[in-house]
Amino acid sequence: MRLAAELVSKGATMLAEPCPKDGGIQVRYRGKVYCTSHDDLSSITEGSAVSYDAVVAQMREVILARLNETTAALGTERDPAKQDQLVSLASKYFELLQKLPRK
Ligand SMILES: [Zn+2]
Repeated sequence: MRLAAELVSKGATMLAEPCPKDGGIQVRYRGKVYCTSHDDLSSITEGSAVSYDAVVAQMREVILARLNETTAALGTERDPAKQDQLVSLASKYFELLQKLPRK
């Protein structure tokens, strides 16, 4: 319970439903659900140190989503000037994706 309170002070939200595995208190933090009894919460409780891997993973996700949107927009765009913009944008996203380190 103290742990849950600490997590909440770091911006986590306590969930109403208990953990389906062990009935522990669950919290949602940065879009992920953690159980305060069986999950490893050290990454949360150790403060807000940003990990390089986490940023890269996040970046890959965001760029992929944007690239997907840009490609979809290109598929329906009739105006050549706007197509040009979209192609240049997609090309930048693609370049950036390839620069990201692979796991
Ligand atoms: Zn649990």
